[in-house]
Amino acid sequence: QPRVFSGVQPTGNLHLGNYLGAVSRWVPLQDQMPTIFCVVDSHAITAGFPDPVELSEATREVTAAYMAAGIDPTKSIIFNQSQVREHAELAWIFNCVARMGWLSRMTQFKEKAGKNKENASVGLFAYPNLMAADILAYRATHVPVGDDQKQHLELTRDIAAKFNNDFGERIKELGIGVPNPTPSPELPEQLYFPLTEPMIAGPATRIMSLRDGTKKMSKSDPSDLSRINLTDDSDTIAKKIRKAKTDPDALPSAVEGLADRPEADNLVGIYAALGGLSKEDVLKDFGGQQFSAFKPALSELAVAKLSPMTDEMRRLMDDKVQIDSVLKDGAEKASAIAEPVLKDVRRIIGFLDVR
Ligand code: ATP
Ligand code: MG
Repeated sequence: QPRVFSGVQPTGNLHLGNYLGAVSRWVPLQDQMPTIFCVVDSHAITAGFPDPVELSEATREVTAAYMAAGIDPTKSIIFNQSQVREHAELAWIFNCVARMGWLSRMTQFKEKAGKNKENASVGLFAYPNLMAADILAYRATHVPVGDDQKQHLELTRDIAAKFNNDFGERIKELGIGVPNPTPSPELPEQLYFPLTEPMIAGPATRIMSLRDGTKKMSKSDPSDLSRINLTDDSDTIAKKIRKAKTDPDALPSAVEGLADRPEADNLVGIYAALGGLSKEDVLKDFGGQQFSAFKPALSELAVAKLSPMTDEMRRLMDDKVQIDSVLKDGAEKASAIAEPVLKDVRRIIGFLDVR
């Protein structure tokens, strides 16, 4: 049965890329299938432990952002990862499924570890195994994320496939899997874990930094001017867009003209995503115009779209008791799904259950 899982790390401020590439796309899914949205705090310690007070505040802030964006706790499960032990337990098992070679090819590790790989935490290296566990602890089938997570989702499928294969006979014997919808020589008839579908679509799968059109907009970018935070006020948004790097040419009249112009392509893509338009539509209106005309229009649209959400986030942040109770309720619902899955997994592997 279909189920959506996705998450955001509580590291620093949520930005426009997180909103357009991920959270905003989750909202309509709530009415289509069961949805689970996690604040992935266990991932937030892989690049160094943040200040403890800031980590718990950021966890509440991401929760408030989910809700302000339209994630409804009566429709979706909202919780923080560390509260459901099954994530860590399944991640350990996946550490023993995934191969060193698979993880060595992950580009996010290479980027985040930088030059000094010897000094990166083991957790940063094993991050994709925990992400696979996040998804598969709920046997989720659909994962809406930005384009940067594509490789991790392929790894999630590889882990699921290897587990299904290695334990194919056992899963059949126990009669606990689901029939393989697309039988092939590579996969057994009975699968325990689904092969997750990535949902990476739309004009905003990869919003780029406002300072460098070749780098993705990131929470962890040291330059605050590189991103629009969901908590930025109108003046800050306008200033960041005004200062955004561009080339000196006018906007082209067709999308082909955006090739090799990463900064122009990015700003047009942001406008399109915020306005619910295609890039073609945007260029129909702005083709031939200079950035000096386009940037103010973009600021106006960004402020109009983001400020109601920012206000709502602030309002929600004033009531921490309410946020914590949403997370508590979500953690209970999430555990109720993940506990039986881990019980199955322990049986499949042969861990002796004496309790
Ligand atoms: P960090 O730099 O700490 O990794 P991040 O900005 O990449 O932070 P994550 O919490 O890692 O944020 O990602 C949350 C979600 O936002 C993921 O689905 C990810 O694919 C998506 N996302 C992140 N950055 C962008 C971006 N620039 N454009 C579109 N989607 C993005
Ligand atoms: Mg990231």
